[in-house]
Amino acid sequence: MTFEAIKALDEQYVMHSYGRNQVAIDHGKGATLWSVDGKEYIDFTAGIGVASLGHADEGWLKAITCQAARLSHISNLFYTEPYALTAQKLCTRTGMSNVMFGNSGAEANEAMIKLARKWSFDKYGKGRGTVITLRNSFHGRTITTLAATGQDKFHNYFFPFTEGFRYADANDIESVEAVAGHDVCAVMLELVQGEGGVLPLDQEFVTRVADLCGKRDWLLLIDEVQTGVGRTGTLFAFQQYGVQPDAVSFAKGIAGGLPFGGVMANEKCRDVFSPGTHGTTFGGNPVAAAGACYVLDRMDEAFLDQVLEKGNYIRRAVEEMALPCLGKTRGLGLMIGVEVRGARTNQELAALLVEHGLLVLTAGPGLRFLPPLTITKEEMDKGLAILRETLA
Ligand SMILES: *Cc1c(COP(=O)(O)O)cnc(C)c1O
Repeated sequence: MTFEAIKALDEQYVMHSYGRNQVAIDHGKGATLWSVDGKEYIDFTAGIGVASLGHADEGWLKAITCQAARLSHISNLFYTEPYALTAQKLCTRTGMSNVMFGNSGAEANEAMIKLARKWSFDKYGKGRGTVITLRNSFHGRTITTLAATGQDKFHNYFFPFTEGFRYADANDIESVEAVAGHDVCAVMLELVQGEGGVLPLDQEFVTRVADLCGKRDWLLLIDEVQTGVGRTGTLFAFQQYGVQPDAVSFAKGIAGGLPFGGVMANEKCRDVFSPGTHGTTFGGNPVAAAGACYVLDRMDEAFLDQVLEKGNYIRRAVEEMALPCLGKTRGLGLMIGVEVRGARTNQELAALLVEHGLLVLTAGPGLRFLPPLTITKEEMDKGLAILRETLA
């Protein structure tokens, strides 16, 4: 089908809930994509951090197709090997104790919030269900995770929202103390605020939040839906911050392109969910789990070191271009934010770049790059050349 034909069908039959780029992607290899009209694009998005090994990675493809040919789904009422292996790999590499699988980031965070509330209920009884989150955070689009998201623009239309969230300012421990109370059970945060604009939290703030959680017997919940699974140069970002959380959510990059996610708990929280208290039909799907096993096996120390090197390479190149419309870069590993300056908005710059063959994202008021972690030097250079030529 032509782009025009696809677009016409989409306009007619799909709800208009997304602002779309004016291109229909057909297939990809690594960090390179081709549209239905055969035009080539360099991918600095990885499908919003999902295609962590790039597109059509051979080993990943073999892992998921072999699993699909054996068994594509069976439900959580039976054991399967890829499921148990994924859980083991996650725990042994993070120091966490056990895992509950779901299918998306929002669902993973819902599970993490439920875990915190039930942990507190089991220990203290009712009235201690409040979770402190940070302003400018993003935790998902379900009613509860919208409420957890600390941005007013997300608290519209869908009333009533779930109660039990209070917001504090990032990097301001006094602001966290100011909303403390006897009703609080947990603090939940992203270590690098992703959708909010790629804003890494200060090390000292994170250490002090962890200390406060210890003192007050609150759980420390880390939303690693975007930062997790190698994106920041360690398997999970908390491993760079020197804290050991009580629970960690993950999704986006875990299965290399298939819908998968979940929450890991530490020893203290390992028995919070007993049979019947939480569940999901698709969670732990064997094909997605086979993808996750493969992704985790690929992410050894050498792979993760390369993520850091590539991130530094892209950031240095962007800063050296000294383009008038771009300012400073920030981020961790291959999670990169670029400040936008001047008359054109980040949306306008992103649309221009896409038109010229480089797919990029926006976040907050800036641009955001989340390339596949396997992106080659040649692909980075091609993408950077498009950036320079288009925005000069
Ligand atoms: C993307 C994201 C979510 C939501 O994930 P979905 O899979 O879209 O539900 C939650 N938290 C963070 C930090 C995210 O980046």
